[in-house]
Formats: sequence, C-alpha cells, structure tokens
Amino acid sequence: MGSVCSFKAGFHDKEQLGNKGANLVIMTRLGLPVPPGFVISIEAYKKWKDTGIPPESEIRQSLSALEEEMGRALGKGLEVSVRSSASVSMPGMMDTLLNIGDYAGVQAAIRRIFESWDNLRAVEYRRLNNIPATLGTGAVVQAMVYGNRDDNSGTGVAFSRDPSTGARGLFGEYLAGAQGEAIVSGTHTPEPLAALRSAMPGIFEELAAIADRLERHFCDMQDIEFTVESGKLYILQTRSGKRSGHAAVKIAIDMVNEGIITPEEAVMRVTTDDIRGMLHKRLKAGDYQPFVRGLNAAPGAAAGKIVFDANGALAMARKGERIILVRPETNPDDIRGIAAAVGVLTKRGGLTSHAAIITRGMGKPCVCGAGGIAIDLEARQLTAGNVTLHEGDEITVDGTAGAVFVGVLPMEDASMTPELETLLSWADGFKRLGIRANADTPEMVLQARNLGAEGIGLCRTERMFNAPERLSEIRDFILARSSAERLVAVSHLLKLQTQDFAALFRELKGLPIVIRLLDLPLHEFLPAEGTVTDPRVKERIEELKETNPMLGHRGVRLAITTPEIYQMQIQAIERARKQVPADVSIMVPQVITSQEALNVKQLLKGSKAKFGVMMETVRACMRAGHLAEEVDFFSFGTNDLTQAVFSFSREDAEKKFLTTYLEMGILRDNPFQVLDVKGVGRLMETAIFWARRAKKDIEIGVCGEQAGEPRSVEYLHGIGVDYVSCSPFRIPIARLVAAQTAIKGKDRVSQVASAT
Ligand code: ADP
Ligand code: MG
Ligand code: MG
Repeated sequence: MGSVCSFKAGFHDKEQLGNKGANLVIMTRLGLPVPPGFVISIEAYKKWKDTGIPPESEIRQSLSALEEEMGRALGKGLEVSVRSSASVSMPGMMDTLLNIGDYAGVQAAIRRIFESWDNLRAVEYRRLNNIPATLGTGAVVQAMVYGNRDDNSGTGVAFSRDPSTGARGLFGEYLAGAQGEAIVSGTHTPEPLAALRSAMPGIFEELAAIADRLERHFCDMQDIEFTVESGKLYILQTRSGKRSGHAAVKIAIDMVNEGIITPEEAVMRVTTDDIRGMLHKRLKAGDYQPFVRGLNAAPGAAAGKIVFDANGALAMARKGERIILVRPETNPDDIRGIAAAVGVLTKRGGLTSHAAIITRGMGKPCVCGAGGIAIDLEARQLTAGNVTLHEGDEITVDGTAGAVFVGVLPMEDASMTPELETLLSWADGFKRLGIRANADTPEMVLQARNLGAEGIGLCRTERMFNAPERLSEIRDFILARSSAERLVAVSHLLKLQTQDFAALFRELKGLPIVIRLLDLPLHEFLPAEGTVTDPRVKERIEELKETNPMLGHRGVRLAITTPEIYQMQIQAIERARKQVPADVSIMVPQVITSQEALNVKQLLKGSKAKFGVMMETVRACMRAGHLAEEVDFFSFGTNDLTQAVFSFSREDAEKKFLTTYLEMGILRDNPFQVLDVKGVGRLMETAIFWARRAKKDIEIGVCGEQAGEPRSVEYLHGIGVDYVSCSPFRIPIARLVAAQTAIKGKDRVSQVASAT
C-alpha cells in the first residue's frame, strides 16, 4: 500500500488506515451507501511528523480520481470533508473539517487534522485511557453530502442497540435540516430516531437493516453516523459503540444467545470499568422531588458540589471534594473536568452527545439536555424555576432516571443484576484463581456471598473487641499483671467471642473461613492518659507504652508472652463450631519464625481447624520453606508486607510524600493499592518457591488490599497463588479479571518455578 488508499481499494488494515478509514473501506466493500473518498495512512502521518512533508502527489492523484468518480470538480459542485482516523477510537477529540472546496484547502486541512493528534484534549483523553501517543492518526478525505440541503435532509447518530440499557433494536437521534457536527458536539438537542421513522419510514428501515448487517459483520454493537440528503441515506462512519456497564454486560450475553459471539468472547469483552460502573450507587427508594429533569444519559447516581468549569473541577477534586460538573454543553475540552467529577449535568445535548458518550464509558452518572436550567457562568449560578444554586452548593444527579435534586440524597450500593450473575458464572468457569472476601461481620459475609465470594480469606477478630461494652473487658486483660488475672478477664470474653463466631459461621452457609487470631494494637485499647486517675492503672499504662507500636509487642509476639487470649479465641472457635459446623482455618499474624508458629500450634491440640500463618514479615518470607513444614497454609498480608519491604508506614507515606513520589514518577503506582511486583512480588515469588518445595500442596492465599486490584490479580494468578481475598465489593471485578487472565493464558507459573 502507498501513503494514500481509496475506499474502493478494499485494503482495510486498521493499524494503517485507522478505525474510521478502515471501516469506511469495509462498508464500501459491503456495498453500503458511503460517499466516496480515500484515506491518508498513519504511516504517512508519521513521515509528516518526522519530515514535515505530506504525500503531496499521491493526494493530488487521489483527488483527481475522486473528481472523476463524482463527475464533478473540487469547488465546482464537489466539496470534501477531512477527518481524523486513529487506530483507537477517540470520539470527538480530534478535528473534523467540512465543506472544503479547493486543493490548497484540502492540504491545509490534512495538516490540521494531523496536528490535532496533539491537541490538549486528545492528549488528556489518551492519558485517561492509557493510549500511547506514538500511535498517531490517519486522515479521511470524503465527498460531502448535505444534511442541510432541504426538508428531506438531516443528520443523525444511530446505535444498533441502546448504549445505556443494552436493549435490542435501533436507538439514536436525528436532527432534521442540519449538517454534521451539530449532534455530536451537543450544541443542539436532537430528536429521538422515532422522528426519522415517522418523517421518512423507508430511510429508517434502510438504516435499521444496515445497522443489523454491520453489527453481524463486526460482531459488536455499532455506533453509526449518517446523513440524509434529499431523501437519500448515506453512512459516514461506524465503530464499536461505547456503552454503559449495564449495556456492556447485557449486550455480551444477548450476543452469545444470538450466536454472534462465544461465552469466552463475552467474558473477554466486558471490562472492569463496566462492572465498576454497574456497581455504582443508586438512589434509595423514596419520594424526592427533582428540581429539574433531563435525559438519562449515563446511569447511576452521585452527589457533589456544583462546579461550572473543568479547571475548577480539577482544583476541587484535588482537594478531595466530590464535585458535579455543570455545563451548558460539554465539549471535548471538558474531558479533564469530567474525569475529575463524580457526575455531570448539561443543559444542552442529547443521548449521543459527547458528554453522554464519555460519561457512559467512564461509568459516571450524567443527565444531559436539562433544558429547564439557566446557567449563568459569570455569576456562577444556575436557576431552574424558583431554585437558584451557586457554585459549591450540593446536588444529586440521578443518571438512571434523568433527574437532578437539591442536596445530597440517600444512596445505596447497587446489587448484582441477573445479567451480571450470568456473565460472572461464565467467568467462574474459566478462572483458576480462587476469589475470597475479607469479612469481619455476618453482614459482610452475606454481602460477600451475594457477590460470589468462594469463601472468607481473612476474618479479622480485632473488630469484635471494638464494641464499647467489651472495651472494659479487653482493658482488664491488657492491664492484668498475672496469668490468673488475665484468665478472669478472658473468661468474660469467651462467651462473647463464641457468639461472634457462631453468628459468622451461620452466615457462611458452608463456605470456608480463615480466622486470624488477634493482632491487637495495644495502644488503641488503652484509656487516654488524662482520663486515668487510678495510680496503679497509670503505672501499668506507662509500662505498656511503646516507642513504635507498629513494630512492637503485637500479633504472635503478644501471644507468646500472654497466651491466654489466643487460648480463649481457639476455645471460642471450637465452641462455636459445636453449635454451627464450619470449615475453619486459623491463622497467626506477624510470624517471623517457625518456633512462634509451633508455639501457637500447641494451643490448637485437639482442634480440627487448619493451621496457617500470615506472611507479612520479610523474615517469614525468607524462611518460607521451614515455615511451610509446620503449617497447612500461608496467606500473604500484602499491606504489612509492603510496609516492611518499603520500610515506611502507609499512613505516613500517604500523608507526607507518596503523592510527590507519584507525581515525580519516582514510583509508578501507590504500592498499597497496586502490588509492587518488583519488590514485594519478588519476595513473594521466592517464598512461594521454597514453600512449595517443602510442601507441594501447601495452600497459598493473598489477603492485602491489593488482592482485588485488576493488575495485581493478574500477577498473582501468574505466580501460582491459590486464591486472593479482597473486600466484598471488589469480588465481581476480581472474578472477571481472574477469568480474563486465565483465558489470555498469561501463566507465569512455569517461569517462576524454573527461576531457581
Ligand atoms: P468524530 O471522529 O469525532 O466522530 P467525524 O470525523 O466523524 O468526527 O466528523 C463529525 C461529523 O461530521 C460526522 O458525524 C458527520 O456528521 C460530519 N461529516 C463528516 N464527513 C462528512 C461528509 N463527507 N459529509 C457530510 N457530513 C460529514
Ligand atoms: Mg464521527
Ligand atoms: Mg498485618
């Protein structure tokens, strides 16, 4: 292929022609009504970028060929559009130039399109979507058709299915008597496609048939731009349509049922963002009066402070404020503001406007075309009826219903939809990694089960002592000076703990649970110094004070010196198990040596519970082979382990310097959110290697916060972990990622095993 390729040539490599160009070629080949034109390749863009020289003679030739085909000369009855064509779709981010009628104009337009690859909003869009800047763009030159020619003309956007709900059937908008960009930019609020159906039923049918054909050809939901000129339909673009999470899941499932894709493809096609978007909050049922209504452009609900521009939105969001971006219409320059906002409200623009498409993709609620509001950008206020709101005032946007309310309304977490359950049940069939939840209370266990957890990978017992009515007992224990005193204190706790565990076990419905014995932060349970009068208590508090409690007398270390509390907990577990049978594993925190583990193991004599250690110290990882011999399982506690590997505390790091580190690129990610593969991960790989060598079938889990983060899940699958345990609300995402990783076959196990 040369630098320029006619639509008719049939060559349609996306990497060379970009999305738009390649799809125009395909549609031309399918015999669809596409105005003739040609594509300037991405290769040619790159050459231009290096040398500043466009493929002039080829463009000239192609223009002559186009004139010949049209039977009209440029400027004499023939005009063209010049449009961007990148290999990834970046809706509305680059320029489009219409109605160009001379050769010099075409040349200047191509240059402008090329330059628009680097405009601010395109750069920002790429950053938000992790699109490399090196990809570059092609350019499409296409004969113009006119949606503003006469009464039988117009322009529109059609989706082959509803991009909000996923419902089958043509969905879209139409603006009679208008040209090109009026709809896409959101400057006009168009009418639903029904308007086209009643005005020109024949055209509507033709469009529906084309949409169906394109969908089957591309095996995906399509977003189609079309124009009607004097009663004749032209297709100007098709691409895979952006959609809400709900729609993504529904469409994937429907397409499997329609025989268009396989369940495996359906699982690969849904993204973690789609699921995040689906699990967005929604308004609690109630009788609330909206102060304005608009179009339900992107589902979910969010509340925040009104901000009227993108820069203000960024500034407020940086301060940790939740904000709602309110604009007369959004244009592509608002992308940073939309990214910073929790929701969007616009006065103008339809369901296929830029704001709608972008927010849907981001999984943020959006209400568009709320014509009832008047926005005064100078005075920084909006008015609707007798309500006037100022910047900083709080509103709630319900993008599912298309309504906006004054103030912050009560919201609830979304639950799984039947469609999501179906998709994730397919995902479960592909994944190898077990997905468990961290849960400390019966409510959390229930939530975890509802979201598809296969067990509880971490049950912390500290929270059971936080209740005010138990504080005095635990204090008695801490302040006790002798074993006898401690036994008295602990005997009170035994009954309560037994009830705690029985309640948890009841909610498990047969799922396994890993219970971590107390990792008591002593200082948190002691009375504040000023409040104590008893001199004996004062003295004891003084004795217990630690310079660095995080690295102090905690976890298993406390149990070694005062075993009564672990004894009590183990006894409580056994008693509860007599009431409610449960598959229990008991885990010891903060272990550094097998001697500690053995010590606690003694207390477990006669118990049928599995016994394991939490891998959260560097030394435990280095002694993994020896430790493995003494236990049934390991569970990496990647929060403490990360602190240990980095030698800084999460709290201090996040408060003081981590942001700077991230901004300066010293660290790529926050290691407390995304597992640090190169440091912490390396250590884990070493530990797993020696552990499996000592005990082949040792069970290995991971229970830090990172265990629910997509990239970390992918990595943990690869190093041969048996299961991850994350907070309940992350379970659906972890299930999807585990399946996608397994399908992609990104298995590093053999590699790790051979890395002796
Ligand atoms: P984007 O990449 O943002 O989708 P496009 O390049 O598709 O932008 O151009 C935007 C709009 O311009 C199109 O939706 C279409 O309505 C109009 N347009 C582009 N080319 C033509 C053409 N040849 N004839 C009529 N309208 C056109
Ligand atoms: Mg377009
Ligand atoms: Mg810990």
